[in-house]
Amino acid sequence: LGGSIAAALARMGRATVVDEKVLAECLNEIARALLQADVRFETVRDVRANIKGTVNLDALAAGTDKRRVIHQAVVGELCRMLDPGKPAFTPTKGKPSVVMFVGLQGSGKTITCTKYADYYRRKGFNPALVCADTFRAGAFDQLKQNASKAKIPFYGSYIESDPVKIAVEGVDRFRKEKCDLIIVDTSGRHKQEAALFEEMRQVSEATKPNLVIFVMDGSIGQAAFDQAQAFKQSASVGAVIVTKMDGHAKGGGALSAVAATRSPVIFIGTGEHLPDFEVFDVKPFVSRLLGMGDLSGLIDKIQDVIPINQQPDILDELTKGAFTLRLLYQMFQNLQNMGPLGQLFSMIPGFSAQFIEKGKEKEGQAKIKRYMTIMDSMTEKELDNTNPKLMNESRITRIARGSGRLVKEVVDMLEEHKRMAKMWSKLPLANRKLNMNNRGS
Ligand code: GDP
Ligand code: MG
Repeated sequence: LGGSIAAALARMGRATVVDEKVLAECLNEIARALLQADVRFETVRDVRANIKGTVNLDALAAGTDKRRVIHQAVVGELCRMLDPGKPAFTPTKGKPSVVMFVGLQGSGKTITCTKYADYYRRKGFNPALVCADTFRAGAFDQLKQNASKAKIPFYGSYIESDPVKIAVEGVDRFRKEKCDLIIVDTSGRHKQEAALFEEMRQVSEATKPNLVIFVMDGSIGQAAFDQAQAFKQSASVGAVIVTKMDGHAKGGGALSAVAATRSPVIFIGTGEHLPDFEVFDVKPFVSRLLGMGDLSGLIDKIQDVIPINQQPDILDELTKGAFTLRLLYQMFQNLQNMGPLGQLFSMIPGFSAQFIEKGKEKEGQAKIKRYMTIMDSMTEKELDNTNPKLMNESRITRIARGSGRLVKEVVDMLEEHKRMAKMWSKLPLANRKLNMNNRGS
């Protein structure tokens, strides 16, 4: 998905005049890419119509950056599709909540229940697991193993065959034990069957869950919408978790599940183990779909690895918008030490690869050293400069002489910096600003 849409937008970027024809071509390519990513036809049709409705090229004031407007419309529309407008229920510490998991067999319910319990336990909750899957042989053993490994209390039975009875018993027991998050795992079937949906309806009626979570395998493709809708009809699904996003999942299924259930995706599963679980965040997901790198993930990483007293400067520079020569210099310094910032820049597609090609590490290092020597001969003003006109011939000659390098080498470096600054400016602005409010937390 990402590749094709990013390519469509890039092609649009190259067109000299952005008119209705270019917009139509761009929308065609986006539609094709969405279909290839398993987004259903009806959804694609809506996206297309909505983007066309949002972008009125004629009405834009002269001088407006039309490419930017179209780009923002695409991002905005995909974000809107993933956001049903109402947040999912979230449990409150100390108040008993029941959360029921539904989904077909193999979708990842049982392991996801445990991940979910573990996530909230880390936040100070007192969760417990109830195994109401009496259909699959060994279901209770599986839950027991997962729960024991995560040290979470569990309830189930080897002999009782009535899922409703077990669910009710388990919920009652853990209510008495003052658990504040009681999670009910249910059975699935390989196919959508009336018996399964009837069972979900009964368990839901008997346990009165505060939230029903639909768990969906992210790689099921076009089947996602019907499946999500069928579960929505038997239990009032209020949230979605998409699993197996570490594999070949293309992302379209998440859009369908949201459309079918009118509920938000709250987490994604990214592997078979407990920590392979991420809070779902619309904007980075969309920008990843669009292939522009996950900048808010990047900012999170900075918070993790850079000492808190050094964060503000770097974050300010990263998010201020201008990719100055000074920032490039700092990036080189960090690349040389292979420090955290060097690794971080590698998360931005195409950035460090430009300087250090695989197999050409020596040349790459030499180039970085040369560039840094050149920048050492620049003034503060030149390093912080954002005006392309500042670097005139006499300045370039002075810098070349001062650094003992050729004029051509200075010009090459400035060109390369310009290319990077351009790439930087194309990263979605919304993402640059993401997470800035809670950067201390
Ligand atoms: P259930 O039948 O819905 O309860 O699904 P299970 O919890 O038994 O999981 C089915 C299979 O999918 C197991 O082999 C899990 O390890 C695997 N699985 C679940 N979630 C993920 C995920 O996010 N990534 C990967 N790679 N595998 C997963
Ligand atoms: Mg299971």
